[in-house]
Amino acid sequence: MSIHHAIGDKSVAAFDRARKLMPGGVNSPARAFGAVGGSPLFIDHAKGPYLFDIDGRQFVDYIGSWGPMILGHQHPAVIEAVTKAVHRGTSYGAPTEAESKLAEQVIEAVPSVEKVRLVNSGTEATMSAIRVARGATGRNKIIKFSGNYHGHVDSLLVAAGSAAATLGVPDSPGVTPGAGGDTIVLAYNDVNQLAAAFDQHAGEIAAVILEPVVGNMGCVPPSQEFLNALRTVTTKDGAILIFDEVMTGFRLAFGGAQELFGVTPDMTTLGKIVGGGMPLGAYGGRADIMDNVLPAGKVFQAGTLSGNPVAVAAGSATLQLLKDQPPYEYLEAMGERLATGIDQAASDAGIDHVVQRVGSMMTLFFNPDLVTNWDQADRCNRDAYAEYFWAMIGEGIYLPCSQFEALFFGNAHTEALIDQTVEAARKVLPDLER
Ligand code: PLP
Repeated sequence: MSIHHAIGDKSVAAFDRARKLMPGGVNSPARAFGAVGGSPLFIDHAKGPYLFDIDGRQFVDYIGSWGPMILGHQHPAVIEAVTKAVHRGTSYGAPTEAESKLAEQVIEAVPSVEKVRLVNSGTEATMSAIRVARGATGRNKIIKFSGNYHGHVDSLLVAAGSAAATLGVPDSPGVTPGAGGDTIVLAYNDVNQLAAAFDQHAGEIAAVILEPVVGNMGCVPPSQEFLNALRTVTTKDGAILIFDEVMTGFRLAFGGAQELFGVTPDMTTLGKIVGGGMPLGAYGGRADIMDNVLPAGKVFQAGTLSGNPVAVAAGSATLQLLKDQPPYEYLEAMGERLATGIDQAASDAGIDHVVQRVGSMMTLFFNPDLVTNWDQADRCNRDAYAEYFWAMIGEGIYLPCSQFEALFFGNAHTEALIDQTVEAARKVLPDLER
């Protein structure tokens, strides 16, 4: 099967227009479909588990705005909270009680968070957490893991889901060697490399930051041994352990991956679900660390729109629903059903593959072996994924437009929709050229 870009005329025209106006026609690069070719669907609106494009076509949405929409699009309680907030004013630049409510919700949910600061994106959260860790420890070096993405923070834009895992070599033009020079990049899940780095740089490492379950090289779970080793070695050395739970927070469990795996970091970064689909992120952790932040302490961090009342309303309503009606058992059952179905369909089609999943995050890797780190992910058959992606679009299923992005679903995805997705995969997989 050659790739048929199943895309409507209106979307094609909209992309032509957008390309003249915005770099690559988009406001965030993945949206341009560069990894799968063709041009992107332009969205008109979304409801529950569905996206509707401007050509009037309907798709089952397995991106959920890249994570936030765990309750589905336009959840009535979230829309009501946002509408109420808008009618009181869209921004004040002064404290509100609603911010304290959301802070209480986050602190109650996430084991490591005793104090929290609200920001506007996941990128701001990780950027600020690194600064605070450096300020609190008086150390400069940080450790990150190849294939882990933490937003477009200069010092973290190193081996961020692509490129070689080279020590301190930035991925992007414009990131100076100086900005990446204190960043040590290690292989994910590699306990020996971790121990060696701490031997070599004892007393110099401010923080270790990681995705506790990786979504940004496709779904790659951590080994329990790896998480335990991280906790032990950072505690011993006095380095701060940061879980970047922008993707996993409130998704894998109400308390995130740290609840699921029973390992409590010193700091946590949040985004996506915590803002209920509005621009909001957060970072938090031990009170003694967070009290380094201005004006309690001396580490500078600020924001005109931070704690924005409309975003806080969306986040607060979302967390309330997740607490009152936890979807996590349902998501696990549906995840199991989806993963088993897709795995079987790919096996029946004779395709080299592995399905990896934690809760409602999942990836079908076109790779015969388990993927535990970036080097292994990098060996996947990207062309096969592109073919699969477009064939599924043709079946009305909207998957991530890259082999290296996990899919997400939420509690609006019914069992019937999960089965429909498996059936679509069963139909298209045997025809892949690979
Ligand atoms: N950290 C992780 C784990 C992410 O997946 C992302 C975004 O996908 C970010 C940080 C950056 O968040 P944002 O895109 O809101 O800046």
